[in-house]
Amino acid sequence: MRYPKLRELKEAIKALIKGPYTSKFPYQAHEPYERFRGRPYFHEEDCTGCTACAEVCPTTAIEVEDKVSGGKAKRRLTVHWDICICCGQCELNCLTGKGITLSREFAYATTESKSELKQEIDKEFVTCECCGEPVVPYDQYAWVAKRLGPLCFSNSSLMLFYLKLLGLAFRSKPSTRKKTEVLRQDRIGILCPRCRREAVLKS
Ligand code: SF4
Ligand code: SF4
Repeated sequence: MRYPKLRELKEAIKALIKGPYTSKFPYQAHEPYERFRGRPYFHEEDCTGCTACAEVCPTTAIEVEDKVSGGKAKRRLTVHWDICICCGQCELNCLTGKGITLSREFAYATTESKSELKQEIDKEFVTCECCGEPVVPYDQYAWVAKRLGPLCFSNSSLMLFYLKLLGLAFRSKPSTRKKTEVLRQDRIGILCPRCRREAVLKS
């Protein structure tokens, strides 16, 4: 007969005094540890819409959808909790560090449909002043402009955006000319990469 080791005996005595290690969930609410990785949530005010989180998500639980309608463009970011594995990569690689964070929620059981297990946020785009194509989400441009400060004057699109942000430049009246036509004077404007190339080549 083999005798239990002293370490195991010690653990058994400790468990007798302290009670079991496991919690009584679901009969009693369970309080996870401080660093527990649970359901992720977007925080709209701290998210720029850059999609870095979607790029690093190993299960493609973060969906990105860009839509243009009625002259306005927006990006929809959706985190699908049903396929999220709570790895924390999105939080770790978030541009602002606060755009998406993992909560300590672990109970996903629901009587709703699977499609309800998600959170969506929308981000408005800055559009090209020539062709109307989306350039970059407004919040991402503002974040980059603020980080760069005066350095953003090396990029004319960003410079103009920054001046508008500071209230020092205003959007010109809509022109009557063909939208897709890029002229030399368009160099001073917020342009998508394609129109920027065309304006530079024409000048
Ligand atoms: S926690 Fe991991 S799996 Fe879940 S959304 Fe973030 S990166 Fe994707
Ligand atoms: S700011 Fe963070 S949460 Fe928002 S899209 Fe970029 S990486 Fe994702």
